[in-house]
Order: sequence, then C-alpha cells, then structure tokens
Amino acid sequence: MRELLERKKGLRRTILIVDDEYIEREMLGAMLSDSYSIMYAENGALALEMIKRDKLLLSLIILDLHMPEMDGYSLLELIRSDSELRRIPVIVLTSERGAEAKSLRLGAADFITKPYDMPEVIMARVSHAIELAEDTVIIHETERDALTGLFNKEFFFEYGKRLDQQNGNAPMDALVLDINRFRIVNELYGKNYGDHILKKLGSFIHELVQYTGGLACRSDSNCFCLSLPHSDDLAAKLPGYVARINEFLDDRKITVRIGVYSDDGSGLDMERRFDRARLACRKLRNTYETGFDFYNAELHSRELHSERLISDIDKALAEKQFRVYYQPKYRISGGKPVLTSAEALVRWFHPEFGMVSPGEFISLFESNGLIQLLDRYVWNEAASQIRKWRDSFGVDLPVSVNVSRVDIFDPQLGDTLFNIAESNGLTTDKLLLEITESAYTDNSQQIIDTVSSLRERGFRIEMDDFGCGYSSLNMLTSLPIDALKLDMNFIRNICTNQKDHRLVAIMIEIARLLEVPVIAEGVETEEQMLLLRELGCDIIQGYYFSKPLPSEEFDKLLAKEIREGNYDHN
Ligand code: C2E
Ligand code: CA
Ligand code: CA
Repeated sequence: MRELLERKKGLRRTILIVDDEYIEREMLGAMLSDSYSIMYAENGALALEMIKRDKLLLSLIILDLHMPEMDGYSLLELIRSDSELRRIPVIVLTSERGAEAKSLRLGAADFITKPYDMPEVIMARVSHAIELAEDTVIIHETERDALTGLFNKEFFFEYGKRLDQQNGNAPMDALVLDINRFRIVNELYGKNYGDHILKKLGSFIHELVQYTGGLACRSDSNCFCLSLPHSDDLAAKLPGYVARINEFLDDRKITVRIGVYSDDGSGLDMERRFDRARLACRKLRNTYETGFDFYNAELHSRELHSERLISDIDKALAEKQFRVYYQPKYRISGGKPVLTSAEALVRWFHPEFGMVSPGEFISLFESNGLIQLLDRYVWNEAASQIRKWRDSFGVDLPVSVNVSRVDIFDPQLGDTLFNIAESNGLTTDKLLLEITESAYTDNSQQIIDTVSSLRERGFRIEMDDFGCGYSSLNMLTSLPIDALKLDMNFIRNICTNQKDHRLVAIMIEIARLLEVPVIAEGVETEEQMLLLRELGCDIIQGYYFSKPLPSEEFDKLLAKEIREGNYDHN
C-alpha cells in the first residue's frame, strides 16, 4: 500500500481505456482516476489513432476484447507487432472463459475479468503491469540502455517532457549523477569492472525512482539523470541516498558526485532543469569523495558571463576591443617628482558589456591559458606606443607590462618579447616586466631560470605585489630582480595604521638589502606620497599623480611633463 501511495504522489502515468460500453468505461476510469490520468476510446479504430499519436505518453492500455469495428484481438495484434508500440503493456478485459489464454499468447500483460473484481485487485494489476513494463528489458531496445536497463537519454527526455505536460508541469527535481574519474577506474581495473559498477549504480537508481515515482536514464557512459517529483526536504534525504549508493557499490575507491536542481516551480523545461543540475555536478568535478551540491543561480550567471567572455576573446583581439591604458610612474627620490616610466594596463571595451576591467577577466584567462594571447597583444601595443612617443616627442619612455604566471612556462617567452622590442626598434631595457610575487613562490626554480635568461637579454624585472606572496628572505636574496613594487594594500592605510606603516618600512629595508629601487603603487594622497618619500621609497604610481590614461591623454601628460622639465632623462 505504501508503494501505491508513493506512486500516487509521484508521476501520474496515463492509461487508455478502450471499451465500447460507456458505463463500463466510466466505471473503470473512476476506479483508476485517483492515481492515473485516463484517456478513453470507444472503438478499436479510434484507439489505434490515439495510441499512435500518444505512443510516448501511454503507460498502459486496457482493452475490451469485444467491440464492433476493430475488435480487441486485432488491435492487440497490431500493437504487439509494431516495434514502436509494443513497449506499451496491454491488459485485456474479458468476461469469457478461454479468452485469457489466447490473449496472453498474443502478448497481453494481464487480464481483468468482468464484472469487475474488487478495486484494490484492479489497482494492483494495473500498477504491476506498468511497473513490469517499465522495468523489464523486453522493452524495445532503442528506448533502453542495454547495460543498466534504464531508459536511454533520448527516450528519457521525450517521455519526461510528455509526463510534464500531463502533470500540468508539477515540479520535478533534476539530479545528475556522475562517477568520479571513471575513465581511470576502467583503465586500472578493466572494462568489466567498470560495467559492473555501472550496473550496480543502475540498480540503485532503479530502486530510487521506483520508490519516489520518478524516472531515470543513463545519459552518457558514466552519467545518470534522475527526474524525481519535487521534494522540499531533498537536501535532508540526499545523505541517505549517498549512504545507500556506497552500500550498493561496496567499493570505497568508487565515488560519485551528484548535481541537483531543486525545482522551485518556476516551470523550467526538462532540458533546462538538467542543464542546471549538470552545472552543479560539474562544480564537484575535482572532489574525491561522494558528495552532492545544489545548483545556485548566482553562480550560474557568473559562469555564463565567464563563458561568454571566453568565447568572445578571439573576436575582441581581432577587432581591437582591448585597449591599453598607461599609468605614469614618478621618481620622487630627488627634489621634485619626475615622470620616469608607465605601466600598461589593459581594458576591454566590449560591444555589449561596455568597459570591462581586468579584474573581471585576467584570472579567468589565466585559468585557461588564454592570457598568453592577451598579454602578447598588450606587449605589442605597449612597444609600438613607446615607439610612437619616441617619434612624436623624442624620448624613450620605458613601459612596464604585466607578465602572467602562465607566460613564465612558455619556452618562447624570451624570443617573443625580444622580437616585439626589436620589431619596434627598441632596446630590451625599454620593456619592464612586472611579475607578481606569488608567481615566484609558486614555482621558484622555473621562474628563477626564466627570469635570469630574460635579464641576460636586457629586460628588467619588477616584482609586483610585493608583500603578499610570502617570499622568504633567504629566497629573496637569490632572486634576479631589478625592482620591488609594494602591494597596494599596504599603502592604503599607511598613514593611519601603525602596523602597515611598519611593514612598509621593513619592505623598503629589504629592498635596500637587495640593492633594488622600491615602487609604491596605489598612492592616492599627498600625505601618503610624503610619508613614502620619508621612508625611502623611490618611485610612486597612483591616482595622486594620475589614473591610467588612454594613449591620447597620456600624450598630453607626456608633452606637458617634458615641457615643464618633469621628465626623468636618466
Ligand atoms: P596590478 O598589476 O597590481 O595593477 C595595478 C592596479 O591598481 C591597476 O588596476 C590600477 O588601475 C590600479 N591603481 C593604480 N593606482 C591606483 C590608486 O591610486 N588607487 C587604486 N584604488 N587603484 C589604483 P587595473 O588596471 O584594474 O588592473 C588590475 C590587475 O589586472 C593588475 O594589477 C594586473 O594584475 C592585471 N592586469 C592588468 N592589465 C594586465 C595585462 O595586460 N596582462 C596581465 N597579465 N595582467 C594585467
Ligand atoms: Ca602590475
Ligand atoms: Ca600590483
């Protein structure tokens, strides 16, 4: 009985009752309509039309054997011989002795005798026939996954969508279940063992959808989709499911991840529900334990945005949507500040999103390596800009460019930079290379090698964001660098926070020890500038002097500083 109640809450299956007697049709329909959606046909011809039209929707046909026009036997034969229709189980209605054997021979799943038995008996026969039909492997193989006996993906989605319609889009939760590192399981333990695991998982899933009244498929080699009637306390149930999975698999090295989209009743179609569950599942791809996670809308929109930026980068490079801004650096160690170099900072003028700041895309492009394309573009732009300034103003203003941690691993890095300088008629000391301190601590030997060879070719290296990367003093003294650039976060509160003040003083001491100049960036006020000068800081970059400027505006600044004698000719 509990099974039946569970079913009632679950998906409503659809049954077609074919009987020419109005009263009998209605009586039977009334008995079943609490738990099923009922369709009626009053003769065989009409029934056949409906069956063909709704073949994916129908879970059961209840068929009277005696009818005018096309009788039940002929219709049964037709259904059973049609490869697309024969997955639908048929229960025959009969009052005749002897008809049973013949109808079973023709492939009927069961029979109900007239006058009708007790309603419970009829209910039991109906639900049994449906279950059996959904469970057996006799079902047409194109609808089934041969290994697990679950639906295949195509049928699952087609059938699920029909059920959605039938159920007035009652909320259905979507679960995507994936086996962690299944390829490795297959490789290490053999394909047979892999198949064995898939079958076990298949039978757990089977049990679960039977219990909850949902449906499931194997959608890819090691991935399953489950569509379950919405449950408000799914999060509370999932640990139990996970425990049961572990019990079924009985092998601690096999773990699964489950991505869940909990249907809030917003009426998303089935495919979209599963897209979201899949996203939630993908988030878990680096876990080693069996676990689950729920889809989260905010995360989703962020991911979509990131994917969009990734897919747009090629076009953006080709159409020069990226523009390089220049922020001046001033030497303050002498009396009055003089313009000594600039930092190239990229901006993206996206046709749809407007100006996108590097904070939004640099680490994204670092995570997939695309940063290399962008950096190259920026280096080229910066070099040709230095050249333009030489041509217009007769000065070679050095520009520092950011070199991402990803670039460090490119064996061509030195050649690339060298060619960029050379093709613009520049010596290599005009390109300053900013490399963030954390890149040093992450992979010190590689970076020491790369940076040493860059310096041999004449490039100068500035260690960016110094103070955040936890370099050891010991390591610092062996590093090949030409300048330390203090991390902005220390500068922000330098005038108010005693600790930051002390830290900056110490970092400047370290630079003295290494005999390299110190650059402070993020300097916004005169007070900060004066304090830094007092502490022995050599070069300042920040809004106090100027924000990063597009090249036309930087031209004006450069012209003015040259005119007024504030240009560092050293
Ligand atoms: P970063 O290299 O530390 O660059 C300094 C950042 O501080 C820049 O942000 C700059 O606009 C900002 N800034 C400068 N002065 C001030 C100030 O006085 N106050 C405040 N609040 N901020 C100031 P931006 O341009 O948004 O760049 C952010 C980060 O993106 C950069 O940090 C750098 O790590 C990265 N980036 C920018 N352009 C490139 C590039 O072409 N290649 C690579 N790999 N990374 C880049
Ligand atoms: Ca920088
Ligand atoms: Ca920095």
